[in-house]
Amino acid sequence: MGKIKLTQDQAEAVNLSEKGIADIHPEGVLLAEEVFFQAVEHSPVAISITDLKANILYVNRSFTQVTGYSEEEVLGKNESILSNHTTPRIVYQALWGRLAQQKAWSGMLLNRRKDQRLYLAELTVAPVINENNETIYYLGMHRDGSEMHELEQRLINQKLMMESVLNSVPASVVVLDETGHVVSANPSFRELAKELTDSDSLDAAVDVVSKHLGSSYTNLIDERKSFDDQEFSIDHGRSLARWFSCFGTNIDVQGEQADGFFEQTVHHYVLLMINEITDIRRRQEETHLNALKALMAEEDLVQGMRETVNGAIHQMEGPVNLLATAVSMLQRRSAESRDDALLAALEDALASGRGAMDSMRDSMPAEIQESKKPVNINELLREALALSTERFLSAGITVAWQPSVHLPAIIGRERRLRSMFKQLIDNAVDAMSERQVRQRELTIITSDAEKDVVTCEIIDTGSGIDPSLMMKVFQPFFSTKTNGSGCRGMGLPMVHEVVSDHAGTVRIDEKHKPGCRIIVQIPVTSIR
Ligand code: FAD
Repeated sequence: MGKIKLTQDQAEAVNLSEKGIADIHPEGVLLAEEVFFQAVEHSPVAISITDLKANILYVNRSFTQVTGYSEEEVLGKNESILSNHTTPRIVYQALWGRLAQQKAWSGMLLNRRKDQRLYLAELTVAPVINENNETIYYLGMHRDGSEMHELEQRLINQKLMMESVLNSVPASVVVLDETGHVVSANPSFRELAKELTDSDSLDAAVDVVSKHLGSSYTNLIDERKSFDDQEFSIDHGRSLARWFSCFGTNIDVQGEQADGFFEQTVHHYVLLMINEITDIRRRQEETHLNALKALMAEEDLVQGMRETVNGAIHQMEGPVNLLATAVSMLQRRSAESRDDALLAALEDALASGRGAMDSMRDSMPAEIQESKKPVNINELLREALALSTERFLSAGITVAWQPSVHLPAIIGRERRLRSMFKQLIDNAVDAMSERQVRQRELTIITSDAEKDVVTCEIIDTGSGIDPSLMMKVFQPFFSTKTNGSGCRGMGLPMVHEVVSDHAGTVRIDEKHKPGCRIIVQIPVTSIR
């Protein structure tokens, strides 16, 4: 019979019962069988040993604690005394099947305590095999797994609840890892990704969104700075622009691996929540457009008055200059040879002519002043197009709007630029409204292909401009249209003036046929 020499400390460490301690030899020597018995007896796991019919032969103290049955109450009884009789048959068949193969089985059973309370037994049964390879007993070890199951189930339920909330919210939600790659996304984001990228790539969609969010996104990823209600628009030109409001925040989670048990490892994630606000924006844009219409009508009126007065002054300049020449010629003549009465009359006429011109200049309405600020050319063009919708419809013109998705903002005068683009669009519509023009198509393209320059092309399929007139059309009061058309010949000079004011260029593509292609280029930092 083997003996194990234990120190007093070791004996205490195995938490020996009074009986066990009494069995310790005065020199600290304990029988090996007794050590094993005590270890089993005091194990925190409920242990039972049964015969081959599962009739209980031995139970330890934890068995009593877990089941509520004393040793006397269960000895000789079948383990089924613990059964709640709701565990599926197939589970017992699996248990007994493994034992028949002399193999251990582990699983969950629904047990009932002596006090009738139910608990989930996390059970392992194993055969006890003798030297002749015969099963002589069964060993059962179980503990109450109800709490763990409850926690697991709660976790699963919470996950399910979160998932169903995320799946049903209209907002697009995506979680990214530290490198910005998608970890998970809800159906709404998957849907949005398809629309943004024409593919199923969620990473590509995040790429598009991140470009629109700019520094807010880089600060979120690099500096872990959250942001709220960051609005951006995506304009593919295929349909109307779509507006989104985005919210970004960081999520820190503890590492789940074993190595993070003592030394906690933190994993950083990023959550993006994107709400489509196109409808709200469209309503706002409608109101804005109506206000713009009123504003532009007023501007047009002022501009028209300025042009009319300027035209009148321009007309008067000829005769007044002739008068001035005549007066100075008469003044240079000797007193005898000049007609003083005529000179006086001419001087009077010259003075009243100049006076009339001065009062005309004074009566000219002042130009509307406007300071420069960051301007999105795509937005201005879209507004200018929206303002002309009725004209497109009545003239049967189709519009191909091809904006650059990542057009940088320029520093400019918003109202003047909008009026300038509206003028170019109006010119194109006029050119296409002529009777002989069959194909009526307006194409507007913006691009940032050239570094630090925003390019806008306005292409129509109208009557076109004769190459000999391509410079002249930018001169004031020049018009190819017949009198009575209401054309003042001030449109393209105004375009030229506004473009110059933004340090840009405007030119007509001489080679473009049929119709007209006007190219406006404005530097991104056009501050003057
Ligand atoms: P039973 O009529 O006892 O048996 C149901 C099915 O189990 C049978 O159709 C048969 O396929 C199989 N089966 C039963 N006895 C044997 C056998 N001797 N040999 C081969 N197949 C057999 N059950 C619990 O519910 N909770 C426990 O905590 C638990 N602990 C156990 C611990 C040990 C060590 C062992 C060996 C068994 C344990 N059992 C436990 C199983 C228990 O003995 C019963 O099989 C089970 O409770 C079903 O009992 P029952 O009266 O509903 O059906």
